[in-house]
Amino acid sequence: MPEPNDSEPLLEIREVTKRFGALVALNNVSFSIRKGQIFGIAGPNGSGKSTLFNVITGIPFFPTKGDVLLSGRPMHRLRPHEISRAGILRTFQKDAEFATLSARENVYASAVYCGQMPSAQAKDAAEQALDDVSLPSERRTKAASDLSVFERKQLMIASAIAGRPKVLLLDEPAAGLTKPEVSGLRDLIAAVHGRGTTIVLIEHVLPLLLKVSEYLMILNHGAVIASGKPEEVVRNPKVVEAYLGKREAKL
Ligand code: ADP
Ligand code: MG
Repeated sequence: MPEPNDSEPLLEIREVTKRFGALVALNNVSFSIRKGQIFGIAGPNGSGKSTLFNVITGIPFFPTKGDVLLSGRPMHRLRPHEISRAGILRTFQKDAEFATLSARENVYASAVYCGQMPSAQAKDAAEQALDDVSLPSERRTKAASDLSVFERKQLMIASAIAGRPKVLLLDEPAAGLTKPEVSGLRDLIAAVHGRGTTIVLIEHVLPLLLKVSEYLMILNHGAVIASGKPEEVVRNPKVVEAYLGKREAKL
C-alpha cells in the first residue's frame, strides 16, 4: 500500500454513529488525522471517547453507521486482528496485560500477534520496544503483576508499539499516575512520537493533553462540540460549559 502524502489523512473517521439500544454513544462523528500528528481527545465521562477507540479497532464492536479508513482503506469489514495488523493499535483504560507473564513475554506476545512477526524478529522487536519505553532490563523478567503502576504503563505502551503501529491509540494513559509520573509519561509519549508514530491520545489530565497535542477535539454526549488548536479549543465557551461544567475554565 502506498504511504499517504501530507494532504491525505492517515486515519479518517467518517460520520460514525454507535448506538446501544436507545443510547447514542457516538453521534455522526467525523475527523481526520494526518501522519505524524499527536491528536488529542477530551470530554466528560461517558461522552463516548472509549467507544470511539472501540469502533475504530473493532474491539469489541464496530460502528452502527459510518466508516473508518486507514490510508483510504476501509477498516469496517476487517476482523479486529486484521485491523491491528493493518497498523492501528490501542491501549486500554484498564490493565490488559497477562498478569503472570513477564514484561518481556507480554511484549513478545504482542509482537507475534499484533505485529505478525516470526519468533526471532518478535524477540528483537520486543526488546526494542522495551528500550523505547526505558523499562530497566532487570525489570523485564518480572511478572507484569509485580510491576509498579508506572512500569505497567511502560509495559502497556511497549506492547502496543512492538506491533509497529502506524497509529497508536492511547486511552487515558495518565490515569492513576502521580504528578512526576505524568511528566515521565509525557516524555515517553514524546519519545514514541519522535520515532515516527502517529498518536491519538484520550486524556483526562488536561495539562498533559494540552502540552503534547497539536490538535484537540472535544466530545460531549457522543458529538464533536469543538476541535482545533488546543489553546483555542479550551477557551471555547461550549467546551468550558460542557467539559468543566462552569463558566470559566481554570486550567
Ligand atoms: P468515555 O470513555 O468518554 O468515558 P464511553 O465511551 O465509555 O465514555 O461511554 C459512552 C456511553 O456509552 C456511556 O453512556 C456508556 O455507559 C455507554 N456504553 C459504553 N459501552 C457500552 C456497552 N458496551 N453497552 C452499553 N452502553 C455502553
Ligand atoms: Mg473511557
